[in-house]
Amino acid sequence: MLLAFRIAARSRGFSTAGTVNGFTEAVGNTPLIYLKGLSEKTGSKIYGKAEFQNPGGSVKDRAALGVVCNAEEKGLIKPGGTVVEGTAGNTGIGLAHVCRAKGYNCVIYMPDTQSQEKIDLLRMLGADVRPVPAVAYDNPKNYNHQARDYAKTLENAIWTDQFDNTANAHAHYVSTGPEIWEQTQGDLDAFICATGTGGTLAGVGRYLKEKSGGKTQIWLADPPGSVLTSYVNSGGKLVERSGSSITEGIGQGRITNNLGLFVNELSGAFTVPDEKSIAMVYELLHTEGLYIGASTALNVVAAFELAQKLGKGSKVATILCDGAYRYQSRLFSRKWLKAKGLEDAIPVHLKKYAVLD
Ligand code: PMP
Repeated sequence: MLLAFRIAARSRGFSTAGTVNGFTEAVGNTPLIYLKGLSEKTGSKIYGKAEFQNPGGSVKDRAALGVVCNAEEKGLIKPGGTVVEGTAGNTGIGLAHVCRAKGYNCVIYMPDTQSQEKIDLLRMLGADVRPVPAVAYDNPKNYNHQARDYAKTLENAIWTDQFDNTANAHAHYVSTGPEIWEQTQGDLDAFICATGTGGTLAGVGRYLKEKSGGKTQIWLADPPGSVLTSYVNSGGKLVERSGSSITEGIGQGRITNNLGLFVNELSGAFTVPDEKSIAMVYELLHTEGLYIGASTALNVVAAFELAQKLGKGSKVATILCDGAYRYQSRLFSRKWLKAKGLEDAIPVHLKKYAVLD
């Protein structure tokens, strides 16, 4: 019976070989998906790394595991210790999972503007969630600073500091980058993605650039309201942050330590407007059957535009950061889209997917 299932599964393309030891070993080794519809439109090959298939549901599982393992290796945390982080999203979810799997306590500081769903999810995962007033980074009461200060008051505790702790980018340098290289057999013209901490872009970018001897170009994609496009294209001038985006988890007002590892080696950067990102959420659902969040949609728009720029036959990869499940009450709500002025960004034949009021 089992054998019959295995044969049936294999013939459908499922791998049944081998097992992994717990949550932590289930992180990574995600598929690289060839995006057929978009590739055919451009005459190029566009690939998305399916990071939503990580066991905690996002690309940040890798960073969460990376920063905790790094602290263990340095002897900064011992069994029964506490992991503290300031995060409004996927890093907290990844950390909460990793902490349960490794037996640590997890304390998450987040701005009190975040949705109840996010708070509830982190609490369900066993984290001690502390919503604090949403104030700017230069205010000492900012959630990141509160996380750092709280960790200092505890014995056997770490502040994982996802933005400036380069163990984050390193996690991608040793896992995501090599996986993409192997999956494309080293034949890749460009990699592009948006950044929050910069860990994914810097880690993957450095690996691919080194391994290809500079042949693979690395580009940055940016949402509105982020300063990174202008920073890269002006050769390093940091402007004041202005504007905003409906995307979550990406965009930045400064050069974090993680991004700083690689920012000077980028081939270029460009901004993707929210209208295009929203349309791509629906397009990917309709043509590829992929249910993905807005930062992923932005990445795919960017990969599509970069493939067009590099010309027919080019091969471009990006990151599919997480699924739409965490954002569906917004991305598929007609009322929300209207309030954001984005209802008309969705092509008429795709409006049928906006099924929520
Ligand atoms: N997309 C989503 C949904 C995220 O949560 C994040 C992490 N903030 C990113 C993209 C960007 O990843 P990174 O922090 O590695 O730049």
